[in-house]
Amino acid sequence: MTAYAIISDVHANLEALENVLKEIEKEKVDEVLFLGDAVGYGPNPNECIDLLKQNAGLMVAGNHDWAAVNMGGYGHFNPFARIAIEWTQKILSPGNRDFLRKLPLTAKIEEANIFLVHGTPREPGNWHYFLSKYDAAVNLEHFEEKICFVGHSHQPFIIESTERHGTNTFYPFTEVGINQRYIVNTGSVGQPRDANPDASYVILKDNRIEIKRVSYDIVVTQNKMKKAGLPEYLIERLAAGR
Ligand code: ZN
Repeated sequence: MTAYAIISDVHANLEALENVLKEIEKEKVDEVLFLGDAVGYGPNPNECIDLLKQNAGLMVAGNHDWAAVNMGGYGHFNPFARIAIEWTQKILSPGNRDFLRKLPLTAKIEEANIFLVHGTPREPGNWHYFLSKYDAAVNLEHFEEKICFVGHSHQPFIIESTERHGTNTFYPFTEVGINQRYIVNTGSVGQPRDANPDASYVILKDNRIEIKRVSYDIVVTQNKMKKAGLPEYLIERLAAGR
């Protein structure tokens, strides 16, 4: 079975991304998959996109990626996210802008039975949050694959769906069953929001889905954000994991 690392919501946090990639290296996976939001919030959008280009085989777009290149608008963003996205728009290199514009909304790997989307399979371009078993019930018929990986909410979980027993939720790991289907939220590399500030990502290997966490030097990232003049609220939330 091919082994994968799945990462999402990097949000221009280079220190978090570097540490996650170092951990992934040790896992000896065959491919890294990226679920969107390379940019927004953090101080290193170009560096993070460059690293993702070098390391990720398959990538889809997130709402911040689109907003950073004026696709789809960002009027609904909170004021802090808006300030960060406007800062990002100014600093992005032309090549990276082009790169973000070309990211697809969804992707699939047929031989591995995997579907990838930033928000939800039902309406990928409307950026809904995938949070609950209810969302699973609504979305399961909108993809055919066995495992769907999502990001966007920055809250990691594994939902397992069985025909006879409904849905179960797991954290941080489960074995992949023969008759079950799965929706896995990888959590966020660069801005976790589940009260754990450690970067979050997923390894799919040897028939096992596992959410992994790794710490990084948050103060380094925070100092860069201060220097860039990014909002204090965004700086503080990294340490709290919210
Ligand atoms: Zn995000």
